[in-house]
Amino acid sequence: MAVTLETPLSKVLGPKTAKGMAEQLSLHTVRHLLRHYPRRYARRGEMARLDDLQEGDRVTILAQITSVNSRRMRQRHGTITEVTVGDGAGSMKLVFFNYRHSGLKHGAWGLFAGTVGKYQGQLQFTHPDMHLLSGDDDSDDDWARELVPIYPASKDVSSWVIQKSVKLLLGASGGFTELVEDPLPEEIRRRHGLPWLAAALLDIHRPTTGEDVERARLRLKWDEALILQLTLAARRRAAALEPGIARPRRDGGLLDAVDAALPFELTAGQREVGEELAVELDRDQPMHRLLQGEVGSGKTVVALRAMAQVVDAGGQAALLAPTEVLAAQHARGIRQLLGPLGRAGELDGDPAGTRVSLLTGSLKAAAKREARADVAEGRAGIVIGTHALLQEGVDFADLGLVVVDEQHRFGVEQRDALRAKGNRPPHVLVMTATPIPRTVAMTVYGDLEISTLRQLPSGRGGVSSSVVPQSERPGWLDRAWERLREEVAAGRQAYVVCPRIGDSPTDAAGADDEPEDADGAPDDGPVSDRRPPLAVLDVAEILRNGPLAGLRLDVLHGRLGPEDKDARMRAFGAGEIDVLVATTVVEVGVDVPNATVMVVMDADRFGVSQLHQLRGRVARGRHAGLCLLVTDARTDSPTGQRLAAVAATSDGFELARLDLETRREGDVLGAAQSGKRSGIRMLSLLEDEDLIAAARAEATALLETERGLADHPGLAAEVAALATDERAEWLEKA
Ligand code: ADP
Ligand code: MG
Repeated sequence: MAVTLETPLSKVLGPKTAKGMAEQLSLHTVRHLLRHYPRRYARRGEMARLDDLQEGDRVTILAQITSVNSRRMRQRHGTITEVTVGDGAGSMKLVFFNYRHSGLKHGAWGLFAGTVGKYQGQLQFTHPDMHLLSGDDDSDDDWARELVPIYPASKDVSSWVIQKSVKLLLGASGGFTELVEDPLPEEIRRRHGLPWLAAALLDIHRPTTGEDVERARLRLKWDEALILQLTLAARRRAAALEPGIARPRRDGGLLDAVDAALPFELTAGQREVGEELAVELDRDQPMHRLLQGEVGSGKTVVALRAMAQVVDAGGQAALLAPTEVLAAQHARGIRQLLGPLGRAGELDGDPAGTRVSLLTGSLKAAAKREARADVAEGRAGIVIGTHALLQEGVDFADLGLVVVDEQHRFGVEQRDALRAKGNRPPHVLVMTATPIPRTVAMTVYGDLEISTLRQLPSGRGGVSSSVVPQSERPGWLDRAWERLREEVAAGRQAYVVCPRIGDSPTDAAGADDEPEDADGAPDDGPVSDRRPPLAVLDVAEILRNGPLAGLRLDVLHGRLGPEDKDARMRAFGAGEIDVLVATTVVEVGVDVPNATVMVVMDADRFGVSQLHQLRGRVARGRHAGLCLLVTDARTDSPTGQRLAAVAATSDGFELARLDLETRREGDVLGAAQSGKRSGIRMLSLLEDEDLIAAARAEATALLETERGLADHPGLAAEVAALATDERAEWLEKA
């Protein structure tokens, strides 16, 4: 049988192995297995030595069996086999219950992996994972190699089995080099000094030296980067060919009214980006733009002005917010700014204006019906909502612009769904306050053009941040509450944020419509050792009866009904509440300029970007802000240092980089951990910036040639494979 990359593994491997690989590692074809790269390489010399093992270590040892002894157990049924192994430096015992293995005999060498235990003063492994080197397979030479590949393995498929299976493929008769045709155009390969694909695969799976691995990795990363960039470049080209509708600027309309009503001067950056958007909206090619700007840089007004231009041109604009709180806040702010111009058709409305509709999932049926009708019949020029707007079959009369606010989790698929909402694809503006490192911009957001607001409106007080290490400086927390009281006494307001709601064992703060914690603050230790995160309801109770007694204090979290939430936000905005104890529901976009203090409890449970976002909630007006990160983490622990870094800089770009370092790459790219396939295995968003940029340039150039990929069937096939494979999954998750 001729083996190809698409040959099912069940045709080339034993049924049990193939089944295990399919079910536990999602490896189905030869291609999948060849692309299942070693996680690392063990050097023979780096095997743990028996004389420096400690109880509790999880290690692999290479040792020789010096004695085997099986006997019946006295207290229990069955036999116990005790094997003594040594490596010249020390010895230890392996214990097996009711287990026989013909290879376990005096003189045999083996690799044994497990957690070191202790019994009657002696170190031992109980039922170690093992691979005996002499015996019925021919893989002994593998262990004589200097670099032993260690594969991501599973319960029934050990690294050793994978190694053997790969070896089988690499040794496939008919020529391995024919099996893997090289998709990379010769010029590109030469220009960047890359080895053949077959050579790279051989080297990644069976390297002789560290350089072999490096060379192979470079080549394999290139493939990933190039195929990804080709996919994105193709998207950009397709988007550029879509026919959209130009929404030119008109004088004397809503936009002019908005400008006249603004209580402040636009910053230079806002004007510049505004101009950029105005020009693009005027084209009959749909705009696809990402607006990134530091927290508080004033993105909303930029978006509103673009929306007004579209309304002036006769179209509708939709604004999508990640939470209902935020959607309601936007609706309130925009209605207020527009005044009578936002109430066309109502008694006191200005007939020259439009209507602002708020459409969220929890709206009462009658209100929903009315809002939908306004949208469908075009009375509502500005439509604000959550994702429900996408899901609930809302029809627009003439959707001209979609603005997606503060959205880290809005992927290509959702963007596509949105575009499909118009008669012709609408213009799309995505806004984010999490500055995006260049590599992420080139990958996850690779199909968008990017604008940046670097400047904060002047006259801002700025936020000073400090870490409050509770265990080391118990007095500081009392001082923190005092500071909070001082601010309230001066007429200001405060947030206290906790990771959990409380009063229920399973109340992750992500409940309801709150953004879930996608930042994934790294854990410092086994979860079981840690107390549960502090909860809003508990903390509010303690503060109310203790350090903050007498202040007007309320809580806000995702389990409250939307009306309740909205009412409390409104009361806070109106200054009727001094202290809001909340979950991360206040993370994104909540705007109360009078709030100046943010105390984050259990700050170590939040990710870097999240903390930066939270901090952005204070000092949005002219008063200086204070952000206190309260934690149990020790100052010198990695977590403590991460918090110190957040406190030390307010540069979002620097923090975005730090964030990328502390998050697992898979989180950034998407589904990697959920067991789904991701096109990215080797490429690192942290380290491979230059490579990604080079691949992007090559991809763009390739597609700009007249024949595109026509002369490169191998590449075209890889691009198609990425698109059809579940691998494209990650593209959906930003
Ligand atoms: P973000 O970019 O984080 O979404 P917002 O759009 O919510 O920021 O703006 C933050 C605050 O700054 C709001 O209260 C807004 O009214 C105000 N603001 C926006 N632009 C300016 C400006 N040019 N001058 C002064 N204040 C501004
Ligand atoms: Mg905002």
